[in-house]
Amino acid sequence: MACGTLTIDLDALVENWRTLDAMSTAGTETGAVVKADAYGLGAGPVARALWRAGVRRFFVAVAEEGAPLREAIGPDAEIFVFSGHMRGDTDTIADLALTPVLNSTEQLTRHVETLPGHPFAIQLDTGMNRLGMEPAEWEAVRDIALSLSPRLVMSHLACADEPDHPMNRRQLETFRALTEGISVPRSLAATGGILLGPEYHFDLTRPGIGLYGGAPHTEARPVVRLSLPVIQTRPVAAGETVGYGNAWEAPEEREIATVSGGYADGLIRAMGGRAQLYDGDQPCPIVGRVSMDLITADITDLPARPESLDILCPAQGVDALAEAAGTIGYEILTALGPRYQRRHIRGGAS
Ligand SMILES: *Cc1c(COP(=O)(O)O)cnc(C)c1O
Repeated sequence: MACGTLTIDLDALVENWRTLDAMSTAGTETGAVVKADAYGLGAGPVARALWRAGVRRFFVAVAEEGAPLREAIGPDAEIFVFSGHMRGDTDTIADLALTPVLNSTEQLTRHVETLPGHPFAIQLDTGMNRLGMEPAEWEAVRDIALSLSPRLVMSHLACADEPDHPMNRRQLETFRALTEGISVPRSLAATGGILLGPEYHFDLTRPGIGLYGGAPHTEARPVVRLSLPVIQTRPVAAGETVGYGNAWEAPEEREIATVSGGYADGLIRAMGGRAQLYDGDQPCPIVGRVSMDLITADITDLPARPESLDILCPAQGVDALAEAAGTIGYEILTALGPRYQRRHIRGGAS
């Protein structure tokens, strides 16, 4: 079989959740964001492991993501939908008992007209200008909305991965002003916000990337290993070239391995030349261009021909690979393609 293997360590994931939970202020509940198929790692197994660890509130981006999640974790978990209540979502929200996070008066009206009495949450815009009610809009509907007992009032930080950015405090103060004196639970922090400190925690936090081993949760345990089978190896002589565009030329005789996996699998083409493949902790530089389904690496220094080489492993984590590709860990994870065999393990066999 030529497909790569993506191994997801559920114990490391749960430990990362516990670490973030332990950082939170006493009385703050720690939820889990499992949108985009749990950042590419498999929402079903990921959410089940978190549910068993005590997570009771989950977040997805769109209502359609609620179906596999509800099936995985059963009827008692609360599933919030960040995009709120869109036209066409009503049956899904009702059937799966989802809690839409309403982002506008339009959504609030749709929700109370189509599903009176059905739970909802509210998102306020505190300056990011992406989702949520504007302060003036909130002012106009606040009393009515609060009289219907929302499950949560939340907002989202634009610059939480930069602790010294003045935007953090501005948003905190705006959020406080907009929610002063309300008795509804409040939520402001994702992973970055948890790390900013207790003022940002409120009643519920919403970590995503920190669970999956990515920055800004730099203390996180690695969760993923991605192993790519070696399909073929060959010696190349000095002056021979490898791959498209003759982009790499051997300076002397070298041994080249061709592994299965390429940009169609989320291994971003721009990482070629900067990232490595690994045999254990021994690096093998990627040479030539990353192509759609294949990557070539220089394995001259290895003692033996390997069966497979790792592109994500403790020696080269999600953020190191992101850096080589000129992107962020979030994009590396969520781009991981459907061709990998995903193996969910317990017991940290990394
Ligand atoms: C994606 C998202 C999160 C999770 O953010 P991380 O940085 O991955 O922890 C939390 N809240 C909202 C509104 C989001 O869109």
